[in-house]
Amino acid sequence: MNKYNSALAGKDVQYQLHPYTDAILHQEVGPLIIERGEGVYVFDDQGKRYIEAMSGLWSVALGFSNQRLIEAAERQLRTLPFYHLFSHKSHSSSIELSEKLIELAPVPMSKVFLTNSGSEANDTVVKLIWYRNNAIGKPEKKKFISRRNAYHGITVASASLTGLPPNQRGFDVPLPGFYHVSCPHHYRYAQDGETEEQFADRLADELESVILSEGPETIAAFYGEPLMGAGGVIVPPRTYWEKVQAVCRKYDILIVADEVICGFGRTGNMFGCETFGITPDVMVVSKQLSSSYQPIAAVLVNDTVFEGIADQSHAFGTLGHGFTGTGHPVASAVALENLKIIEEERLVEYAAEMGDLMQAGLARFKSHPLVGEVRGHGLIAAVELVANRSTKAPLDVAGKLGKFLAGRAQEHGMITRAMGDSIAFCPPLISTQEEIQLVLDTFGRALDDTARWSG
Ligand code: PLP
Repeated sequence: MNKYNSALAGKDVQYQLHPYTDAILHQEVGPLIIERGEGVYVFDDQGKRYIEAMSGLWSVALGFSNQRLIEAAERQLRTLPFYHLFSHKSHSSSIELSEKLIELAPVPMSKVFLTNSGSEANDTVVKLIWYRNNAIGKPEKKKFISRRNAYHGITVASASLTGLPPNQRGFDVPLPGFYHVSCPHHYRYAQDGETEEQFADRLADELESVILSEGPETIAAFYGEPLMGAGGVIVPPRTYWEKVQAVCRKYDILIVADEVICGFGRTGNMFGCETFGITPDVMVVSKQLSSSYQPIAAVLVNDTVFEGIADQSHAFGTLGHGFTGTGHPVASAVALENLKIIEEERLVEYAAEMGDLMQAGLARFKSHPLVGEVRGHGLIAAVELVANRSTKAPLDVAGKLGKFLAGRAQEHGMITRAMGDSIAFCPPLISTQEEIQLVLDTFGRALDDTARWSG
């Protein structure tokens, strides 16, 4: 045995480099090994149960033990465990999944390109838009604008779109040609007395001035999550998307909606684009697409974008882009089954109902001395902790309260996520009323512990 609580934990420290983990601290504290999942719960290797208030990584819509998804994977593994889509090859699960995605899309979309991850999907979007703009005779129209605090992934182009310092520090990104405008977080960034609408006006003006100073003919696309997830569950201020889209349309700038977290019911509608009135040219989905039982993501492009790509691929004799796992049959079969279940069980409507319950429950913490803001939409929310409600100041250093609270929550049997001092909530769409209540109660206990600790 070693200083961790199992031999397996020792091997983890010895052999694995963990994402989003301090590699030195990890040697000290070791891993929390999760052994199995059941419904909205996971269990560690010591038998302790945790309610998963984050759906894993914002992803397990159907919980951790959906038999239909398991059977769909098994069926596909027995029939065709792998095939690819290169050189005119195809197979039924990717075809049917693509058809389903086009049918579900909130605006007319033309084609689906499948990838293994959200990051790859966003890199794919950047490359396809560059490719398309070369094809349509606009080779100078190549720059991307996203927002500070945005999360679009960690591969080279997607990390350039991402606007979070930890994803860029030390990695030599963003690449040239990627620009970040202000984060649409009213609580943190509005000026004194500025209404949500005035804040939205100011952000639209800022976007327009960046476009004008760079030259509209050089800007390819504006990139955004309908509601920002990993950057802190930031709900855009009223009228934000309407105003920002008007600016983009004025200068012939494509709109890309990254629905990787919002997609498939999270915000109370099938897509975040519906919740916030966005009409994108390109959409990216993942996570709840397959409940993450299999790694898969998809890029949906409209006709305007597809036509340029089609012509260019014809001119070159091939579209020189694609992954071994593009349209992987097992991942596609699981995703298709997952979408069928979401529809058949009316989980979008159900999640909207449970979302109202969760938002109302969290709102009750608004008067707590450590709570600066409670925000969210549907079944996704965050509570931002502050040490001083009038100055919105953190305790000593930013992130300390959040980290402590998440630790206490884990101790009390709930996995959540601290994004700085904001605690995120993103429970599975299947959560019952009692399970939502358990999330709220456990948060309350952890908040009380945090208040006692911070004095
Ligand atoms: N886009 C958004 C909005 C995300 O939240 C994420 C992951 O959290 C990604 C893209 C990247 O997805 P992946 O981790 O599958 O690469």
